[in-house]
Amino acid sequence: MKTFYVTTPIYYVNREPHLGSLYTTIVADCLKRHKRQRGFDTFFLTGTDEHGINIQRIAERERITPRQHADRIADLFKKMFAMFHLDTEHGGYDIFMRTTERFHYEGVSELWRRVARGLSPKGRENIYKGFYEGWFCASCAAYKTEDEYKKSEVEGGSPRCLEHNIPLDRVSEESYFFRLSDYAETLLELYETRADFVRPDSRRNEVISFVKSGLQDLSVSRLKTSVSWGIPVPDDPAHIIYLWIDALSNYITAIGFGNEEREKAAGFEKFWPAVHLVGKDILRFHAVYWPAFLIAAGLEPPHTVYAHGMLLDGEGRKMSKTLGNTIDLEVLHRFFQTDAIRYFCLREVVFGQDAKFSYEALIDRANSDLASGLGNLSSRTLTMINRYCDGAVPSPAISEEKYLAAKRAGVDPDPSGLASAIEHARDQFILFIDDYAFSRAIETAWGIVARVDKMLSDAKPWELVKSDEQRQTLNAVLYRAAESLRWLCVLLYPVMPEATAKIFEQLGLEGSPGQLSPAELTWGELPEGTRINEVKALFPRIDKAKTMAEIEKMDEQTEGTRATEADAVQGSPTIAETKPEPPMRGATEADAVPEGAQSPEGVKSFIEITDFAKIELRVGEVLTAERVPKSDKLLRFTIDLGEESPRQVLAGIAEYYEPEKMVGRKLVVVANLKPRKLRGFESQGMILAASIGEEGRPVIATFTEDVPNGARLK
Ligand SMILES: [Zn+2]
Repeated sequence: MKTFYVTTPIYYVNREPHLGSLYTTIVADCLKRHKRQRGFDTFFLTGTDEHGINIQRIAERERITPRQHADRIADLFKKMFAMFHLDTEHGGYDIFMRTTERFHYEGVSELWRRVARGLSPKGRENIYKGFYEGWFCASCAAYKTEDEYKKSEVEGGSPRCLEHNIPLDRVSEESYFFRLSDYAETLLELYETRADFVRPDSRRNEVISFVKSGLQDLSVSRLKTSVSWGIPVPDDPAHIIYLWIDALSNYITAIGFGNEEREKAAGFEKFWPAVHLVGKDILRFHAVYWPAFLIAAGLEPPHTVYAHGMLLDGEGRKMSKTLGNTIDLEVLHRFFQTDAIRYFCLREVVFGQDAKFSYEALIDRANSDLASGLGNLSSRTLTMINRYCDGAVPSPAISEEKYLAAKRAGVDPDPSGLASAIEHARDQFILFIDDYAFSRAIETAWGIVARVDKMLSDAKPWELVKSDEQRQTLNAVLYRAAESLRWLCVLLYPVMPEATAKIFEQLGLEGSPGQLSPAELTWGELPEGTRINEVKALFPRIDKAKTMAEIEKMDEQTEGTRATEADAVQGSPTIAETKPEPPMRGATEADAVPEGAQSPEGVKSFIEITDFAKIELRVGEVLTAERVPKSDKLLRFTIDLGEESPRQVLAGIAEYYEPEKMVGRKLVVVANLKPRKLRGFESQGMILAASIGEEGRPVIATFTEDVPNGARLK
């Protein structure tokens, strides 16, 4: 049996699920379903990448173990995929891979051993011990070369990562190296001989010129003393396997490399090599390092590495929390059918290129292509069969003596013209999907929708029904429309599994369109006499203005929670729900307050010292301040809290403070307040202010002495 193995990247647990991960996973899911229809034995992997200094640091900050943090984020990803029906239960991924799985540890160790045992193409050891000194970005989890960082403006200061704008760490330590520099020729030969190895072509050229510009050996371990959260180097537990050998190996360990149990569940021998779908930002790791590791271990490189583009906002800007222009997955789920989202991702986005993604564009597509397009064709065809043919699929045949009548009605008595056009469209559709040209494949299918729509409009069944002479013509036209619908269900099943299954069911057909191969469809196999089921609208038209208003409202309500704009400066009782309690060894003062003590006037009740300790108050310096568009009350600040990067904080003080005068001011920020969204901007903290008089005029708390940024108030 032919096999097909497709992977998304495993998503790094340094952030919560976002549109990008949903997008790649939808594409992989579509590919898997299509291949499965065509008889391939398929395997589809998604999951999470969970090791590294980054995760270790987040966990330290949250005062939990890295494992607890990884569990929490992995769980969020699983929930998100279930929400959009991409999980196993809905026929989606076959494994949710996690790099903290025991079998992964075993597989990675085995891969390391094999690489270490082998020799490079130039006959040298693949892995050797050296000494590395360099600038290291914790967020990239990579050493940075001179063209990848920005030098510090301060003498002797750390440079900053160009991508993350955080200070780099000077790392100088013993490290294992992978002899990547010996693999340039081997890799170039791979790109030359296998044109489909890196796709699309523009990306392939990028990779080739990167390799031609010279490869440096790769540091592949860190001392356990500097990074403990990872997989130990086999036989040298003082070192942790770092970076990409751990993460990339998941694609083979998940299916059984180095572990018998997984081998039985999936099968490395059976499924490898894979098609990797990746964002263009991680192409180099997948197209250069990964095949080199595999070749070094005597394994086959992947089948294809396909780099897709980025999803941008409606104006073509990068989506970011700071800009407040991200797509909220909760909103997406609440207001849109999963199939409409899938359709949009596969139709609107040209796979491989950057594309705009906005709620408005999604509504437009859903209305024009789904409600007025496929949905309308389906309901009109089935309704007419109900009305004119007693709810059963009519006979396709036009007998010879009725030929002339049919021709008079503008209907070709011979169905083969339509049949061969649809067969041709089907062939094109399959070629396009095999070429990852999802958008063009769908366009081709919509060519069928348009053609059948036109056939119905030209033939006017509602006129034909008035004449006995045209009974056969009417039947034939409706049969052709219904048979075309059946074909469309089978073709479009991987794009919209649920809607096509519903049309299939309404057509009175048994089973799922997912069980039929588009390649094996034969015109005329829709049985005459099939009783159609109740006709229901599949894609209700979306009221754009109303929906957009609701989305905006939800944006403010659910994420700004009960935060009215003015609240943003006042004390908040919700602080306690933020971080877990810090260890408060020696905090005995609380004991001094006897239980049930009388409250002094004006103070509602006592809190324990441990309650107060939950609130992290820090000194911040205002770097920038500006008004929030369309809001009278809100100012948007960036504030330096002495952290890696400044925070964005919103405060409802615009009526009382000029933004220009705020820059440079030191103030007090509640640093561990759960981030919330106000007017589309994420506020990552709260500024403390006194509330004066009836109107609650805010007066910002400040210092008269010089205090360093980030200092904690106790
Ligand atoms: Zn970085």
